[in-house]
Amino acid sequence: MAKANDNYLRLPGNYLFSTIGQKVREYQEAHPEADVIRLGIGDVTQPLAPEIIGALHKAVDEMGAAETFKGYAPDLGYAFLREKIAAFDYQSRGCDISPEEIFISDGAKCDCSNIQEIFSVDNTIAVCDPVYPVYVDSNVMAGRTGLYDTAAGAYKDVVYMPCTAQNGFAPELPQGKAPDLIYLCFPNNPTGAVMKKDRLQEWVDYANKNGAIILYDAAYEAYISEEDIPHSIYECEGARGCAIEFRSFSKTAGFTGLRLGFTVIPADLEADGVRLWPLWARRHGTKYNGAPYIVQRAGEAVYTEEGRAQIKNQIAYYMDNARIIYEGLQSAGYEVSGGVNAPYIWLRTPDNMTSWEFFDSLLSKANVVGTPGSGFGPAGEHYFRLTAFGTKENTIRAIERIRERM
Ligand code: PLP
Repeated sequence: MAKANDNYLRLPGNYLFSTIGQKVREYQEAHPEADVIRLGIGDVTQPLAPEIIGALHKAVDEMGAAETFKGYAPDLGYAFLREKIAAFDYQSRGCDISPEEIFISDGAKCDCSNIQEIFSVDNTIAVCDPVYPVYVDSNVMAGRTGLYDTAAGAYKDVVYMPCTAQNGFAPELPQGKAPDLIYLCFPNNPTGAVMKKDRLQEWVDYANKNGAIILYDAAYEAYISEEDIPHSIYECEGARGCAIEFRSFSKTAGFTGLRLGFTVIPADLEADGVRLWPLWARRHGTKYNGAPYIVQRAGEAVYTEEGRAQIKNQIAYYMDNARIIYEGLQSAGYEVSGGVNAPYIWLRTPDNMTSWEFFDSLLSKANVVGTPGSGFGPAGEHYFRLTAFGTKENTIRAIERIRERM
């Protein structure tokens, strides 16, 4: 008899955003007149930049002519894109990363959830708390963890590294036995916090000393506005010896619907004497057929002079929303952080409300949707995430409503 993979049964309830979607649907059914503004899920709203649209059209035409038609893409992705990434994202910032170390994919979610496959199921994992839920859930699905503590809202066999107001929402180095795989994400989703270079360097040194691998999610690096904040972990000395990095075109260039990302695995990176590059290459070759040619051409357009200028404007648009949210809430007396180097604003709920109490109150009184901090981990309780990805008009209206009605 066929048996289901019971690792999936160890996952608690629903994916956070499904629960939010369900609650919003129920509210709208009960109040069809309500004009609900969504500042919850981290999806972009601005259309693709003209340079990208131009590249898409051109690539579509190429697919229609025998001389320029493309079938399966090369396993690692097209060289024209990997070369641009290596030059603009890495070498220009002094990082020693070559095109051959870049694996093109259809986004960071797949890569940061699939990467655990090339590591032993016996490896222990450490995550920030609060955390992007994909890291933990993908490990549970793979059978790596599964002892869920419902009361604590956390897995017993995962090392949660609290990110609190006291540590600037960036975790301390773990005490005691070192975890094997360490997921770090900066600029952070959900807190919008960043890690300065000296602190990230401490993590790199720690990982090298303990034989741990850092899985560094830099999906939001394009939002960094301040100096002295690394855009890549490879800006730290020794990171080639202990780190894998994930990047995404989703928030950088509005590709959430188009789908494009990449993973960097240094050619000489090893886990317990085994090189990881060939394992990921093998996985990529076996289980994946690559991002579409058309989309990789669109990705290439992000690096042209016009493309870079247009993307910069788009990010500035969202970061102006972040400023509106941050300043609006701060002047209304909320305790807020994030929003300066990231499109996320992290606020402390008023009157010690739980995150879900605040969610319900915000939805019913202000008709604004955000994301409860507790959905990202136990240390997210009493916090709430708003995103800067709405339209400017909706962002202004949402903040006015919060100030007037909450
Ligand atoms: N990593 C983090 C931290 C994210 O917040 C997201 C998306 O919200 C992703 C990865 C996924 O990005 P992609 O759209 O490239 O799959």
